[in-house]
This record gives sequence, structure tokens and C-alpha cells, in this order.
Amino acid sequence: MAPESAWDELPRVDVAIIGYGPVGATLANMLGQRGLSVLVLEREAAAYHLPRAVHFDDEVMRVFQSIGLAEAIEPTTHVSPGMRFVDATGKLLLDWPRPTTRGPQHWYASYRFHQPELEEVLRQGAARFPNVAVRARTEVFALDDAPGQMLIRAEDLASGRLLRIPARYVVGCDGARSTVRRFMGAAMEDLGFHEPWLVVDVLLSRPRPDLGDASVQHCDPARPATYVRGTGNRRRWEIALLPGEDAAAMCRPENVWRLLAPWITPEDAAIERAAAYVFHSAIATRWRAGRLLLAGDAAHLTPPFLGQGMCAGIRDVANLAWKLAAVLGGAPEALLDSYQSERSPHVRAYIEQAVRLGGLINTRAMEEALALGGGTARIASIKPRLGPGLAAGWAEASGTIAPQPRLSCGRLLDEAVGGDFALLARPGVEAPGAITDPAVQPFLEQAGAIAVVLRPDRYILGAARDAQELQTLLNAIPAGAEARRQFGDAA
Ligand SMILES: Cc1cc2nc3c(=O)[nH]c(=O)nc-3n(C[C@H](O)[C@H](O)[C@H](O)COP(=O)(O)OP(=O)(O)OC[C@H]3O[C@@H](n4cnc5c(N)ncnc54)[C@H](O)[C@@H]3O)c2cc1C
Repeated sequence: MAPESAWDELPRVDVAIIGYGPVGATLANMLGQRGLSVLVLEREAAAYHLPRAVHFDDEVMRVFQSIGLAEAIEPTTHVSPGMRFVDATGKLLLDWPRPTTRGPQHWYASYRFHQPELEEVLRQGAARFPNVAVRARTEVFALDDAPGQMLIRAEDLASGRLLRIPARYVVGCDGARSTVRRFMGAAMEDLGFHEPWLVVDVLLSRPRPDLGDASVQHCDPARPATYVRGTGNRRRWEIALLPGEDAAAMCRPENVWRLLAPWITPEDAAIERAAAYVFHSAIATRWRAGRLLLAGDAAHLTPPFLGQGMCAGIRDVANLAWKLAAVLGGAPEALLDSYQSERSPHVRAYIEQAVRLGGLINTRAMEEALALGGGTARIASIKPRLGPGLAAGWAEASGTIAPQPRLSCGRLLDEAVGGDFALLARPGVEAPGAITDPAVQPFLEQAGAIAVVLRPDRYILGAARDAQELQTLLNAIPAGAEARRQFGDAA
């Protein structure tokens, strides 16, 4: 270790976030909003510049709503009408339309966006909180356990100074090659998909409406490819690389244009950026070790065919943020055990669906699927349940995301209830603080419940069919959460 004089000691924070990608930045907003002291440590000077995420869903927009950023983000997005699967000749094999009207969560099912633009809004969002500090060009290289806290060792890359930072919890949002994961001793379970693909963003120099707004999966076994309509004049192609093709060479403009030739030429567009990736599918075996936690790509990797990698990371931090705040506010640390148990099976369902979809982008597999389905292979959009964790009361509906109706007062449900637990109830149910607005009644009727408790992340904790079940449900609200005191003497 370096001599003592070489170390700068920083004040202790509640939570240190390692990595300022979209997942770390969302978490910084969520914890900032909850009043915790947060330090973000990021190795790079600026956000990642190569082409990555282009799609997020209604649930993710709802998370952005919860941190007060949906209004800033929505104008930068484009609502996607869905995905079409065509064979090598362009013949339509399957149409997978997505609703272009608002869904039960108030938001649209499928948004297109430009990741650097989103990250900029998230970073500006985090800057609203005086209790959130960000240190760019700071690389974390070691994590040491200490009584009641972690000690982070990092290097300020601009000055070469070494930093020692105590933190009560450390969340590794440090991406696929996570340092935090290594210090946790967590392995990556291989889910079997590893393929090299070229990803190209172009900027149209003249309109090409014929390319369409829907994504297109070109199910050509000779070279599968995906087209995505980006925001503004940006268009994306993701193209499989073949065995023996050199990834760096394939990123050169002459090779990129050769691969794009079936769809577009330099007369129509300029290459904005091109990168070769190996798409992986893997999931960390351990998401928490004591005061160390993982979120985002550090915890799981998926091929991008469903556009769910970042979405899963945003869901991670929506699940984790309120639990961390509760534990730092006095709730038992065991609450954090439900983070991996709830999130890991959920993200696994998405990864497996993405791998399945990747397999279909191959004409023969698609034809077999069509034959099996009598000519109508279905690509279901999934909304899996959380894995086992906090589910309570009548568990029928628990672990699914609740709808977000607009209440009679004109406000959306989440805006009306804020960031804590919420109790939705039938009008006759006597429970202080319960929301009995007519707008929530269809949901309760559908659930067959007299009351439902929503968690701060808007997943359903559980439902109750009678007063006794309601009491059990209310008792299951973790101690330390505001709502327990609020609803505790109900029923
Ligand atoms: C081609 C492609 C298309 C995709 N399309 C989609 C899509 O449509 N929808 C979707 O939801 N997802 C998509 N994804 C996935 C998505 O881009 C990632 O899941 C997401 O960017 C991961 O975010 P993150 O914050 O977890 O990690 P990252 O964005 O990788 O951020 C990690 C950060 O940690 C920093 N860091 C690492 N180690 C250290 C250290 N030791 N000290 C300090 N800092 C460190 C890094 O510099 C980096 O900034 C796509 C990915 C690819 C490659």
C-alpha cells in the first residue's frame, strides 16, 4: 500500500455509487431525492459515446417520472409502433405491433431514445441534489470491509492522488467488467448466448420514410440484422458478424457501407458511429455481500434483441433505492436480502426471452415457430413477477407492477401518493390514509381484493380480501417505512 501521506481522506457518505452510467445516474437521483448523502465515483470524464441502448418501456418511464424527470425525457423520445420480422427476401413473417396509446401505467409500451441524451438529463437531474456529489475521472481499485462501513480506495486520475472514502453502503453500477463484483467474489452464470455483432448509427441526410418507424428483424440465416428507427434523423442497424470476420476491420467505413448496402447508401446518410460488440447473456450469482451491492450491467447482461438491458438495470435501482433508504433509516438489514431474490428471477425471464428472440432471427427457426403456431408465431411482451421476497397478505397479485390511473383530483396515482408505501382500498374499508378514489376501483375489482398495498417502487406488496388479511398485509410493511405508522392501526 502507498505511504499514508499519499492518501486523501474523504468524509463518510451513506451510499457510494461506483459508475455513472444510466443505472448509477438513476440511483443517484433516487437516493438524492430520499435525502441520503451520496458520492458517485466514475472513471471516465464524459458519458459513454458508442452506440448502445435505443429502447425503454413504460415501467422505466414511470421510474423517470418518480424522480421528476419524465417531463424532461419525454420530448427526447419517439413512441415505437413495434417490430416486424421479415425473411431474407423482405417477405413479412410476423408483425408484432406495440400499442401507440397510453397503457395502464400511464406511459407508452415502447420508447425510442438516444442514450447519451438520456444520460445527460439524468446527470442534470442528479445535480439538483446538494446531497449528491459526483467525482468524474476517479477510478475505484479496492474495497475494504471495516466495522459499520466500507472503505473505498480510488485514484483521482487527473491528479494521481489516492483517495480513501468511507461509505455505509457501496453500489457497483460499474458495468459489465465490474470491479465491485470482483471484490464481492461473485461469479457470472453463463446463460449461453455470445455472438459478435456490428452496431451502426447513421444520421439521415435526406428523408427515407420507406425505412419505416417499426423495428425490423431481418431473419436471414446468412446474416441476421436488426433495423431500428432512432429519434430525429438517427437510424440504427445491428448486424451479425460471421466467424472469421475481424471486428475492428468491420467497423471501417468501407465495410460498414458494404453491409448497409441493402438498405441505405452514403447518398442518404452519414455514419455517426460504429462499434462491434459481443452480445452476452449472463447473470451474477451474488448481488449483495454485506455492504456491497450490484446493479445494472454489473449484475446481468442480455443480448439487446428486446431492448431490455438498461431497463433491467433501472428496475434494479428502483427496487434497491427505497430498501437502502429504509435500512439506513433503521429497518433491519435483512430487507436488502430481498433485492437479489426479487430481481434476479425477473431479469432472468427477460434475458431468456431475448435469447429466444435472438434464435428466431434466423429464417428456419422462425418458419418452425410459425408452423408450430399454425402460422401465427406469437412474440409475447413479458411482464414477469418479482421473485420471492416481500410478498405478503393474499399473494395472488403481489410482485406485479400496479397500474397508474389518473385520480378524480386530476393527479396521477404516483404523484398523489409520493415515494412511500400506498394503500388502495374499496370505499367501505376503514383505514387511515387509504386511497379510495373511484379511479382505483376497477383495479381492486379485477384483483378481487378489498385493498392492495403498493410498495414505493410501485410493485404490489400484496392484496387483502378481508379485514384480517388487510392487517397481515399492513404488518408486513417493513418497520422504518413511514407508511407502517400511517396505516398501522387500520382495519
Ligand atoms: C448495441 C447495444 C444495444 C443496446 N440496446 C439497448 C436497448 O435498446 N435498451 C436497453 O434497455 N438496453 C440496451 N442495451 C444495454 C444498455 O446499453 C446497458 O445495459 C446499459 O448501458 C448499462 O448501464 P450501466 O449503468 O449498468 O453500465 P454502464 O453504462 O456500462 O456504466 C458503467 C460505468 O461504470 C464506470 N466504471 C467501471 N469501472 C469503474 C471503476 N472501477 N471506477 C469508477 N468507474 C468505473 C464506467 O466508466 C461506466 O461509465 C444495449 C447495449 C448495446 C451494447
